[in-house]
Amino acid sequence: MPDTPANLPDFVSWPSFPFEGDLRVKPLEPIADHEPPRQGEDAGSCLACSAPDEAYIWVSERWRVRAMDRPTGLPMVLILESRSHLDLGDLPNLLAAELGVMTVRLERAIRSLDGVARVHVNRWGDGSAHLHLWFLARPTGRLQLRGSFLSLWDEILPPIPESQWRENLALVAAWLAEFGGRPLAEPPRIEWQAPSTLLSQSEAVAAGTTDSPLLSDAPTPPAEPAQPREPAQFAESAQPTAVVSGTAPAAAPGVRPQPVEETRTFVGTAPVDQSVGAAARTAPGYGVPAAPPGSPEGSSPGARPATSSAAS
Ligand SMILES: [Zn+2]
Repeated sequence: MPDTPANLPDFVSWPSFPFEGDLRVKPLEPIADHEPPRQGEDAGSCLACSAPDEAYIWVSERWRVRAMDRPTGLPMVLILESRSHLDLGDLPNLLAAELGVMTVRLERAIRSLDGVARVHVNRWGDGSAHLHLWFLARPTGRLQLRGSFLSLWDEILPPIPESQWRENLALVAAWLAEFGGRPLAEPPRIEWQAPSTLLSQSEAVAAGTTDSPLLSDAPTPPAEPAQPREPAQFAESAQPTAVVSGTAPAAAPGVRPQPVEETRTFVGTAPVDQSVGAAARTAPGYGVPAAPPGSPEGSSPGARPATSSAAS
């Protein structure tokens, strides 16, 4: 095809490019006559609009934050959505201004997690019509993951431990709740283990056959100090937290939320994304599926938004 570049781009030689070996550029498909509709182009069929608040880790009057339905390779991948069925260019001034505030706030919350050096913020919008921004955390010291291939690495790296993932979700939700809204992600439950189990585990650790959950899951407090409250015009109206049973207490930023009871279960913690790729993202309750693997968006951040449909 005449439009297909013959040579590989320079980035295949970048240290951050995840692949090696013989590569070739795919033939370009013919230009489409029209742009196909995205998931949820109409609000009535929008998965984000139909997703319940319980599918999110934090909600407010005008914004919601969701996660994937399961841990992925990066320390944290979150999606910020407007509650209203709008796309980026449709935001009225109030929401546009709040989007800036929310972007900064969520970036700060994720960056405060232990082991996070940088937070990439992306908006693609090719898969789902409902506004959603991706926040991807780059692990500290993983210099090879720097740059635009981070979303690919999220699917390449082995998933982080689920306990750590849930703890991170709870920390971010609690941080956001400091400024208003309602946290829905709960801190991880304490798993009581019989002494014999601990013994066998410590033996396994000593033998180098496994990681010690007691050590690897050690919580780490956010590094950054509490932030001042924002101007009144950006303050989210707080909603009653009593409505949702089992909701994590809103700890101050920098303060690790404590489990209320060791037997609690996770309600609304795991966002589910059905859209994206792997069967994995078939979590419950999520509303918005991520984009299919082949879709433009699906290639984005590992994409599996827990909710959205098109994740992308
Ligand atoms: Zn919508």
